[in-house]
Amino acid sequence: MPTTQRENHAVLIVSGGMDSCVLAHYYAAAGFHLHLLSFNYGQKHVKELTYAELYIADLRKRYPSLEIAHEIIELPISRLLADSDSALINPERKMPHGHYTDDSMKATVVPYRNPNMLLQAATLAWNENARVIAYAPHHGDYAQYPDCREVFVDAFNTMLATAMDGRNIKVEAPFMYFSKAQIARLGASLNVPFELTWSCYEGGSDGLDDRHCGQCGTCTERWEAFKLAGVVDPTIYANDPSHYINIAGRIEA
Ligand SMILES: [Zn+2]
Repeated sequence: MPTTQRENHAVLIVSGGMDSCVLAHYYAAAGFHLHLLSFNYGQKHVKELTYAELYIADLRKRYPSLEIAHEIIELPISRLLADSDSALINPERKMPHGHYTDDSMKATVVPYRNPNMLLQAATLAWNENARVIAYAPHHGDYAQYPDCREVFVDAFNTMLATAMDGRNIKVEAPFMYFSKAQIARLGASLNVPFELTWSCYEGGSDGLDDRHCGQCGTCTERWEAFKLAGVVDPTIYANDPSHYINIAGRIEA
């Protein structure tokens, strides 16, 4: 175990989604050695983890001078929340279709998911003497995901400091006030391989294979982000997400 704190080493929580992929590129471009953690928490779209492995393999090729480790951690969240009404982990709950509304986004909340993940990351950061833990909530998450808000990050950092004296480990959430379109734009500027990311909550089920469904909240949000950002969207959608969205007047010049 390193005995002095490593300022250029970060532990990142990454899914297979585009925000996480941009996050990994963002820290790699800043010169951080990375230990990336992904989680199987019983999500229906566990397929996303395969995509995380793909874009991380690509990241290693782009930044050969950096140490980039990745592991997938099993969390028993869906078992402990067996009676949850979250459509993300309960097979009995149908995934809502259409653009995110408060109600449809609420159906994808998984209680305590991010604190569970961040605590695993903090434990690893302690072992590796890393100073930084990061994850990728953005402004669109604010309304319905309590563990994606600044007040939560501040409280979690206070908890970390209180739980273990004498080590300065901090959670960072650099995209907290970015829109998803701004993340897409940042990713494009970092030449992020968006084609190696996966968002769809349907997880390629029902014969979708490697196509995004184009109907769930995260598919429509992804499609809209690329459109608003003016970034080419490499995603193959089984259904046209534009049926669910009217972005006229909202495309930024
Ligand atoms: Zn979808």
